[in-house]
Amino acid sequence: MKLAILSRAPRAYSTQRLRTAALDRGHQVRVLNTLRFAIDLSGPEPDLQFRGRPLSDYDAILPRIGSSITYFGTAVVRQFEQMDVYTPNTANGIANARDKLRAAQILSRHQIGMPATTFVRNRADVMPAIERVGGAPVVIKLLEGTQGIGVILAPDIKIAEAIIETLHSTNQNVLIQSFISESRGRDIRALVVGDRVVAAMRRRAKGEEFRSNVHRGGTVEPVELTPEYEQAAVRSAQIMGLRVAGVDMLEGNDGPLVMEVNSSPGLEGIETATKLDVAGAIIDHIAGQVAFPEIDVRQR
Ligand code: ADP
Repeated sequence: MKLAILSRAPRAYSTQRLRTAALDRGHQVRVLNTLRFAIDLSGPEPDLQFRGRPLSDYDAILPRIGSSITYFGTAVVRQFEQMDVYTPNTANGIANARDKLRAAQILSRHQIGMPATTFVRNRADVMPAIERVGGAPVVIKLLEGTQGIGVILAPDIKIAEAIIETLHSTNQNVLIQSFISESRGRDIRALVVGDRVVAAMRRRAKGEEFRSNVHRGGTVEPVELTPEYEQAAVRSAQIMGLRVAGVDMLEGNDGPLVMEVNSSPGLEGIETATKLDVAGAIIDHIAGQVAFPEIDVRQR
């Protein structure tokens, strides 16, 4: 197949691994800078220009859209969809995953376990909202934070209220979420490709930190998932409309609690921790879909 990886980071570990995995399997592959596309809308057929020239034909794309370019990036992916080029992650899927509130709204409609979460804006509604998710300590999250930035653990209700009011006063939207203390600074990242988990790791926060993000000094180890965790991860990715996803789960007393579904999961941490060929699994999935397309039941 002829594959385009949409990425602004051609030298990044994940991009390199995906490119090499495609070449090793005899595919043609190009890494195209997402921001160099032009979407021309006047012609009779949906079309794309790349670096000022008509784009050649591709069988599939693999979008790796960073959170800073979600709007333009999803527009490019949508254009490829209209040109009937296969993409494991649709523009809608990527947009759904990018917004923590939208993701939680979609997942909660499908009986996916999640930490109790609420969203309010008026000052008078903050206190009752904190009480409803179980009181302090409580987790406060900026809607579009990544790498643990904008995720705050407030030890008591007064501090929580002050933090939320401060953020609201600067026009930032926040989620209020119950703190899952039994997860003790650990979480699970499951890498879903197609309809299975191809690799999983447990992340452990450093010292007193409750956020297990590697960017916050967290450490990783491979983990064998029980069917319950595996199913929660695969269903979450499917519900969001993603065939390649990193699903983050806390280990709650009653089973998995999904926090987030990532549409451009990094491969370095999980491949290093598990020694598994995740890039290869992604390329094989895409090649399989190009050769034998599934009936697409995802929401568009
Ligand atoms: P980001 O997208 O910035 O990584 P997350 O929502 O995944 O934000 O939160 C970052 C980390 O904080 C998680 O990996 C987890 O370790 C911890 N965390 C997040 N929410 C909770 C919660 N409700 N209870 C306990 N720990 C949490």
